[in-house]
Amino acid sequence: MSLKVTFAGTGDAFASGGRLNTCFIVDAPGLRFAIDFGATSLSALNKIGIAHNSIDVILLTHFHADHCAGVPSLMMDAMLGAKRETPLTVAGPVETQARMKEIGQALYPGSQAMTPKFDVTMIEMETLREYRIGDLKVTTYPAIHTVQANPTSMRVEVAGKVIAYTGDSAWNEHIPDLARGADLFISECYFFSKAVPFHMNYPDLKAHWDELEAKRVILTHMGPEMLAHADGIEEECAWDGLVVDI
Ligand SMILES: [Zn+2]
Ligand SMILES: [Zn+2]
Repeated sequence: MSLKVTFAGTGDAFASGGRLNTCFIVDAPGLRFAIDFGATSLSALNKIGIAHNSIDVILLTHFHADHCAGVPSLMMDAMLGAKRETPLTVAGPVETQARMKEIGQALYPGSQAMTPKFDVTMIEMETLREYRIGDLKVTTYPAIHTVQANPTSMRVEVAGKVIAYTGDSAWNEHIPDLARGADLFISECYFFSKAVPFHMNYPDLKAHWDELEAKRVILTHMGPEMLAHADGIEEECAWDGLVVDI
């Protein structure tokens, strides 16, 4: 069985290169799920012709807007426009339920008066644990990123395949475990040479490249400096609309 991975959004928080916020859509047998759902994700889905209601599960790595702030818009559309009837599961770091409620009320004042007509399940995942979410097996790792955002890296197994994703994170000792044997390892790579806290840059990745025992590695979340060099490096880089079968 193969999985289809659509890189709906591959940008950073600040629209570098005109790219949309992080959102990867994975089609597995009988299940479509998203990994991260940044603020611009409804636009990203519309651009590539993916119906909002067709996503069964959303996995969130952390609570920065470019990774999770599309969820309230999806919920509003599901209630008002797209008239969703099928269940939705949102699984993210600890505090997912409270954080989604907070940002939902902040972004759509008055929305607290609305009750979805479909089942919504929120799952909160601690790090270094394994969770079964329907057919998905999700293993979580602590990421090195803004601590208030509850940063998490995750490894998702489904239909005999593994997709691993750093989320936003500096290099850390868990990344080799995260990537090991993955059919697809998606790594953030924010800068080409500049060293920044809480993120990875290209030299960090190259220094540890041999520790990434993944079958395929794709770089994402590139800022302007990294984007300027993306065409000149041998590693594979994501772009909005890239579709990969694994
Ligand atoms: Zn980010
Ligand atoms: Zn972040």
